[in-house]
Formats: sequence, structure tokens, C-alpha cells
Amino acid sequence: MAGAQRTHSLSPSSWNNFEACPRKFWLSRQRLPRKAGMAASLGTAVHDSVEDLCNLDLTGKSDEETGWLPTTAKSILTRQWNDEREKFFKTPRHPKWKEEEFAGAQKQLIGALNILFKKAGYKQVSLSSISVAQWKDIQEMVLAAEGTLRSSCGRLMGRLDLLIADRDEEGNTVGWIVADLKTGRPPDGEIYETVSRQLRLYRDLVMANNPNHPKITSEGWYTKNSSVYVAEGPNVIADAMEAWEASRLTPEPFEATPSSEACGFCEWKAWCPAWPVARASGKMESYGTFRDYVVKIINLDDDCSVGLVEIMGPEDDNGKMGPTGQRHGVVFAGYALENIRKLNDYAPDYENELYFFGSVNVGSKTWKMGDWCDVLPWNPLLRSTRDY
Ligand code: SF4
Repeated sequence: MAGAQRTHSLSPSSWNNFEACPRKFWLSRQRLPRKAGMAASLGTAVHDSVEDLCNLDLTGKSDEETGWLPTTAKSILTRQWNDEREKFFKTPRHPKWKEEEFAGAQKQLIGALNILFKKAGYKQVSLSSISVAQWKDIQEMVLAAEGTLRSSCGRLMGRLDLLIADRDEEGNTVGWIVADLKTGRPPDGEIYETVSRQLRLYRDLVMANNPNHPKITSEGWYTKNSSVYVAEGPNVIADAMEAWEASRLTPEPFEATPSSEACGFCEWKAWCPAWPVARASGKMESYGTFRDYVVKIINLDDDCSVGLVEIMGPEDDNGKMGPTGQRHGVVFAGYALENIRKLNDYAPDYENELYFFGSVNVGSKTWKMGDWCDVLPWNPLLRSTRDY
């Protein structure tokens, strides 16, 4: 209904987005075409495999049987991997699928299982030595695998990976552990503040929803090296509620706070007029071999594999761009070539359109664009197309 306030819910990752750049959060809620990424697909395949293993039905198997876990884990991971591949290709914007990363996913799954073994009190064990009885014991330790956590008001939510019983040396339950699996790079020293806040939000939601809870610890489990980081600190529910209030969606875009950190992996640049302004005014540096540009295509050869483009610079704060006189030859390959061909089919008068080129390799005089690049129409979004 126009004018009505749509209720939204804030997850730890959307809270982080909102803090990093409110515009990024606003754009993420505009139903723009999403981008798939290999790291996210790998992470989901590992998470879902751990969940499946925790819920595995072992009825009919002998308690003494060993050697079953490596093959079971691999076949579960293979199924999840195939599902992720399918979703990846269905996502409107996606780079190249890297099948060779399956081995890395396998290692990360083993990394997650090793943490579970340790938590259950089994030290230095291999997957093949875990008996059916031991895995059943681990399953008993797991109180919940992959559940949605929601505040009673519905404003805050998150996906809980694992809730497990915290056991002492004798195997007695002395508390609960809220565990979040992390397939990214482990921190060098202290846990990242954004991760700590996320883990504490899970902890505080579990506490709020279970008034008779025992002691709860919140941990980040880094599957790359099986390291565990504990998140300690004050309750974050009040801060999260404040962020929820501030992030109520409006038809007008939220403030943009461009910075190298926030914009670095922002997938909404083709719809955001703020970053070229920040870059042109020197407020945000542009460095590295892979860079983003708004360009006008001056010409394309017949099969679109080679072209000449001109970099466009901001003329106002709303995305109006004008010529800079800087022209570059571009070689298109892979998905960049597919996308430029599609654009060329839909908009054969490309000379009158502007485009966002993401992650252009500017390492040589002629730019290179390939599977890793975004090629999108430049389309700054200045008002929501949704009703609020
Ligand atoms: S490109 Fe930068 S300024 Fe624009 S929405 Fe993304 S993070 Fe914010």
C-alpha cells in the first residue's frame, strides 16, 4: 500500500551493510539483480553439509561401524555442491563457476567436523575412525542445526548454524554454545568487530527466546584452520533495535558513505551515483589493477570482442556523467563478452548509453575484461520503485 511502512527485519549481515554504507543497505532492498559469488556458494555448500550430517538418520547402522563418515560426508557435500552450482547459474549476475574449488570445500567441511569432534571430547581423531556410536553422541550434543532466530517482535533475525551443548571434561552439559561457521579467512589476532557483533546478536536472541537458558557462549568456527574465536561483550539487542529503527525503508535513497572498504565489494555500484563523485573529488582513492568505471562505448567490432570506450566523470551528485576525453581499447572475453553482446543486442544504439564496467583489469594499456567483470547499464537509482 503506497505510503504505508513495510515491516522489515534486520539480520546481522544487513546491519553490517547498513553501518558500512546506508545506501548499500537501501539498494540491497530494491530487488535489483543479485550477484552470485564462488566464496558464498562454497560457504553455503559447507554449512548445509554440516547441517545434513548433524541430522543424518543412522538407524540400522551398527554402533561399532567405522570408516563410513568420509564417504557419507563426501556424498552429502557433492549433493549440496551440485545444488549450489544450479542456484549459481540461476542468479542473474554470476561469474565463472570454479569446479576446482570442490577440494577446498571438502577441506573446509573436514575443518568443521574436526571442531565438532573436539567439542565432543574426541581429540586428534580422523574422520574414518569415528564410529556410528560416536557420531550419534555428537548428534546428541547438537541441540539445533541451522535454524532461524527471530526476536519476538520480528524485527531482528538471523540464521543460527549450530547450537550445541557445552560439555565439561566428564561430558556433563555446563552451558550452551552458539556456533557460527566461517568459511572465510580467519582473523590474524582479535575477532573482527563485525563478526563479534553478529555472534553476540545470535547469543542475545537465543537468551531472549529461552528465559531459562544456562550460560551461553558465542563462537565463530573458522573451518579453514579449525580455529575457534569466542565473542565476548555486552548485549547488542538495544543497538540492533536502534539500527532497525534507522533502517526503516523510505522511497528516497539513504545517505551514501563511500569509502574504499564499503565500496570495495559493493555489488550495487551500477545503481549508485556516489562512488564516482567520491573518487573524482579525491575522497576515495582508486588504486590496484582491478578498477570500476562508468564508460561510454565509442565502438565495438562485429563480434564485440574488442572495443573502444571513453571514461565518463560525474557532472552532478545524481549520476549525470560527462566525457573525460580518456579513451581505452578493451578486449572482452568470457562472461564480459557474453554480457556486452547481450547489451549490444538489446541496445544497438550503445553510443547513446552509459555502462558500468566492474573490476576492469587496467594492468596494461589495453583493458582486459573477462569472467570476473560486471557489465551493466549505468542506472543510478534515485527513488525506490517499491511502495513503502
Ligand atoms: S558503491 Fe559505495 S557508496 Fe555506493 S552503495 Fe555501494 S558502498 Fe555505498
